[in-house]
Amino acid sequence: MCQIFENLMQKIIDVNIDLSKLWISKNFILDKYKGREKIMNTTYEYMDRDSIDPELICSICHLPFTDPRHTLCGETFCYECITNWIQTQNASCPICQEPLSVDVLTKASRMIRNMLNRLRIKCIVCGQADIQRGDFDDHIQKVCPTTVVFCTSADINCPWKGRRDQLKQHLDDCRFEPMRPVITQFIAENQQLKDRVNDQMNQITAQQNKIQQLEDLVNDQINQITAQQNEIQRLEDQVNQQTIETVRQQNENQQLTEQEVQLTTQINTYQRENQELKDQVNRQTIETVRQQNDSQQFKEQVTQLTAQINTYQRDNKELKDQVNQQITEIINQKYQIRELEEEVARKTKQVHTYQQDIQQLDKELKQKDVHVTYMSYKSRE
Ligand SMILES: [Zn+2]
Ligand SMILES: [Zn+2]
Ligand SMILES: [Zn+2]
Ligand SMILES: [Zn+2]
Repeated sequence: MCQIFENLMQKIIDVNIDLSKLWISKNFILDKYKGREKIMNTTYEYMDRDSIDPELICSICHLPFTDPRHTLCGETFCYECITNWIQTQNASCPICQEPLSVDVLTKASRMIRNMLNRLRIKCIVCGQADIQRGDFDDHIQKVCPTTVVFCTSADINCPWKGRRDQLKQHLDDCRFEPMRPVITQFIAENQQLKDRVNDQMNQITAQQNKIQQLEDLVNDQINQITAQQNEIQRLEDQVNQQTIETVRQQNENQQLTEQEVQLTTQINTYQRENQELKDQVNRQTIETVRQQNDSQQFKEQVTQLTAQINTYQRDNKELKDQVNQQITEIINQKYQIRELEEEVARKTKQVHTYQQDIQQLDKELKQKDVHVTYMSYKSRE
């Protein structure tokens, strides 16, 4: 197997192939496809143009329709012509000016398409005339001798391309065609290796996916475990809180029971007190009635006393007036008494003076009497 592979590689180097040519080959095919499109548009001309039905002519490009589309207003245009018109001119019909958009365009009927496909054309590339327009694609791909084609060994990487009428001569000289079995085997083995690589890549990818799935699963489980741990923690917290709450409620119940007992006692006390107060009130009511009676009596007494007081006040007033008169009188009498006393004092003083005079006179009298006696005595002698 290994030996075969090395041989193959050698042969490949001999014929000057490398892998990059695979890409070149692909690009050729793409170019070829694009070229065909171009050829379809530009490399034929209509035969006997005057006989073509004017209904089949596009009023934008003045050629028979290519991929015809109808508008809502009933006109028909080539698809490319009308979409270019809408995009670059304005969104209205070029004939009647009605608003128009690409979305509302519809494909023309099979009948019109068939009529267009039956139009006679001439290939400008090879000059062949009288080809139906619908067959021109086939003509270019399979018949037209001047069309550029690839070697029939392009699939095993022959890079040749040229006019179709030169292909036969190339095939006589082509170095790839004789190698087809070897290259085919190489390509097949290459394909097998690629398939194996792809298989293994797929397996790796699958295993990676599986690992990823397992990782996801593990992460999920970790998350679940974490969530459950959190939940457990939360429940434990809740249980603790409830235990605390229960203890608190038990305490509260105890307190309430005690309070109830106290309140019951208090209620009993109040009931007793209430009864006593009621009794008191009854007694006081009786007392009040009694006092009301007393009060009535007192009122009457007060009325009597008031009358008496008034009388006394009147009497009192009269007496006061009398007293005042008497006081005035007494004062007058006092003045009189004082005057009299003063007069008495003066008279007493006068009396005193007279007494002194009398005493003096008496003394003088006694002295005169002695002298007289003496004198008389002397005279007898
Ligand atoms: Zn057109
Ligand atoms: Zn219109
Ligand atoms: Zn041709
Ligand atoms: Zn070739």
